[in-house]
Amino acid sequence: MASNSKQTPMMQQYFAIKNQYPDAFLFYRIGDFYELFYDDAIKGSQMLELTLTSRNKSVTDPVPMCGVPHHAVQSYIDILVDKGYKVAICEQMEDPRLAKGMVKRAVIQLVTPGTQMPDSPGKRQDNNFLTAVDEKGGQYHFAYTDLSTGEVWVTTLASIDDVQNEMLALQTKEVVVAPHLPDDLAAGLKKLNILESPQELPETSAEVSYVRQDAANDGQKQVLARLVGYLLDTQKRALAHLQKAVVYAPSQFLQMDHDAMANLELTAARRDGKKHGSLLWVLDETRTAMGGRLLKQWLERPLLSVKKITARQDKVATLVGDYFQRSALQDQLTKVYDLERLAGRIALGSANGRDLLQLKASLEQVPGIMDTLKQLKGDSFTAFLKGMDPVPEVAALIGRSIVDDPPISITEGDVIRDGYNDQLDQYRDTMHHSKRWIANLEAQERQVTGIHNLKIGYNKVFGYYIEITRANLDKVPAGRYERKQTLTNAERFITPELKDQERLVLEAEEHSTALEYKLFTEVRGEIQKEIPRIQQLAAQLAALDVLQGFAVIAEQYHYVRPTFVEHKQDLHIVNGRHPVVEKVLGPNQYVPNSVTMDQDTDILLITGPNMSGKSTYMRQLALSVIMAQCGSYVPAEKAQMPLFDHIFTRIGAADDLLSGNSTFMVEMMEANDALIHATPRSLILFDEIGRGTATYDGMALAQAIIEHIHNHVGAKTLFSTHYHELTQLADTLPKLRNVHVGAAEENGQLVFLHKVEPGPADKSYGIHVAKLAGLPEPVIQRADVILQELEGKKRSVPAPATVKQAVPIVAETATPVKQQATTDAAGNTAPAKEKHAEQQLALFQPQ
Ligand code: ADP
Repeated sequence: MASNSKQTPMMQQYFAIKNQYPDAFLFYRIGDFYELFYDDAIKGSQMLELTLTSRNKSVTDPVPMCGVPHHAVQSYIDILVDKGYKVAICEQMEDPRLAKGMVKRAVIQLVTPGTQMPDSPGKRQDNNFLTAVDEKGGQYHFAYTDLSTGEVWVTTLASIDDVQNEMLALQTKEVVVAPHLPDDLAAGLKKLNILESPQELPETSAEVSYVRQDAANDGQKQVLARLVGYLLDTQKRALAHLQKAVVYAPSQFLQMDHDAMANLELTAARRDGKKHGSLLWVLDETRTAMGGRLLKQWLERPLLSVKKITARQDKVATLVGDYFQRSALQDQLTKVYDLERLAGRIALGSANGRDLLQLKASLEQVPGIMDTLKQLKGDSFTAFLKGMDPVPEVAALIGRSIVDDPPISITEGDVIRDGYNDQLDQYRDTMHHSKRWIANLEAQERQVTGIHNLKIGYNKVFGYYIEITRANLDKVPAGRYERKQTLTNAERFITPELKDQERLVLEAEEHSTALEYKLFTEVRGEIQKEIPRIQQLAAQLAALDVLQGFAVIAEQYHYVRPTFVEHKQDLHIVNGRHPVVEKVLGPNQYVPNSVTMDQDTDILLITGPNMSGKSTYMRQLALSVIMAQCGSYVPAEKAQMPLFDHIFTRIGAADDLLSGNSTFMVEMMEANDALIHATPRSLILFDEIGRGTATYDGMALAQAIIEHIHNHVGAKTLFSTHYHELTQLADTLPKLRNVHVGAAEENGQLVFLHKVEPGPADKSYGIHVAKLAGLPEPVIQRADVILQELEGKKRSVPAPATVKQAVPIVAETATPVKQQATTDAAGNTAPAKEKHAEQQLALFQPQ
């Protein structure tokens, strides 16, 4: 629907604006409402559950429309933006009473999924990241920001996979891109199904220059310009809180791809995507929203530098040792509000009086926090303290200027303190003086007229009036008052003097609210200049908060400080625990397990029945590694570990959301990723690799993969399997050791001991469990016979590949297996008897 000359001037104006925002819902302000028209109204009324009406109902072609009241607009905008749409907010730019002709209107902000401010308490702790990607010089330049906090990061990545990985890890809802994308990038982004917002490169601006000053190359400069340009175009105001982009490389941190983080339930449980049940849930003892966000960032990016890790550990150690100061610190941090977001609101011009008071209250905690830190023993906080700036001028300015209990609105007065501004004080004096005069009038007129219930009242339509009940009307001296309004039981009067005073009051009120607004924005402007200092302080408090949280957890759950061996892949964890399972089970319920992988042990092959604890054991190690490299203590009695550079996982049945590949295909792709990219400093967790296909080729692949890791990769690897045959590999692969998780029978009940022991598991275990499960005796007996037959064949695993034998792995190792197998009518490559056994095995495989 386009504009045409038959339309009213207002609809013409509407179309002129709507055409600039074709992909957004246009919220068009008319008086106290925001109206949606045409398609926006039809779609919007459904999604927002609003009544669809129409403008100009009488004409043949009525205009569909729906509206929302201005004071409730935010919740409607949030609903649409949460669903992935954009909303353009179009305001009246002049007072309709004063406008000549059509009221001027303009879009003041475009709200989008990536720029939405999560103001609701539930989302308080979460970052909302807007991303941007550009291809230049055969590389991908990638940047992201959180508009609410002003943080910006940038990096250069080699492949689209890496870009996808960053985007998935950041859970971004929107990506800013060039208007025309190269095919490969377009295809890569399409798979992610994230809102793409095209953006031309902007003119340079103060924000663009500031943000990109540390950029490492032209590609990074370009992508930052695009990102900031998009922010400026959508927010349509200066963005003084945007910070210098931090240049990073994923390889500066312990790397984990998105699937690994999801598998390990680092920040969200697999089951429902919620925090509860994740590592973050256990470790989050932060007291501030900033600390909560930073902890999540730390967990997703563990460190690779012993020096940096030790610096964090030293602080945790200091806090662990001093319960008294730590509690004091917690109390103080609890009173610190979200300084990052407050700085953002101040920069964006949306901070009100209450926000400034929150800022003041937070800043006022800082001297106390510094005192507490000074009380701590040792010098782990000395440098930290030196850099701490409580920004006292800002707290003082707010203290002088803003009242103790300001209203939400900043345009209706009662925000600025008495004594802050002379002119304002004068207006207020006038107001008080006239109001007192009016108040005195009541007493005076009661005396003159002798009417005891004479009273002075006020309403919006008539202003101040004198009210006299009907019964007393005869006592009113003739000509003393002017009659203004008649009620059932009373008459209302005015006098010229009363109206004079009223005018004084109203004028002074109008002037003073206007002046208060001006003064408020000036104060906000002053504070705006100090935003970098506030942000610096916010970052320090956030880190302090995470560290004190680590100390709380360490003490509460009896964690230990891990030590690191550099240049030696030597790992010893004594009586380690899985932090989440331990917390869920409660004190002393978790069975601790040690992990020993010295320089001569690269692979632990873990066997044991389902539900015995194999997967938990593997995750326990990975989580301890991550915690340790974040600077946290770990759940163990003693822990010594090397620094890992990368964690690869193949755990659980993950479906590939991006490409719709089969589970087995995903399994092989993840395995492949590890075989190609792992280094001797990596950690690999492979849980039941090969179970996604038929027994024999699954087992063949599993063996070949183990051999390859053993001979070519040298990464520390935990490999759980139900292929008992693989345990023989220990005879030929010197760096592989068998361990198993046992279970016991007690009074005919199967009891999982969850204890990891040296050596392989008992082979007839499955049949044993089946018996306990109550399978018919003939089935059990038959299974025993089949097992013995299989055993009798002594079908041992093929000799391992030697170091010199190179890939292709699958073809090579699959051959011996194929020789034994026959193809049945259905095309299954396994003889009937073995298929039988396979079904038996399947009983003990996870569904
Ligand atoms: P598997 O991988 O062998 O099938 P899991 O690791 O999934 O077994 O463990 C099954 C269940 O056993 C877990 O949900 C957990 O509650 C419990 N469990 C595992 N390890 C332990 C342990 N060390 N101590 C106590 N309970 C454990």
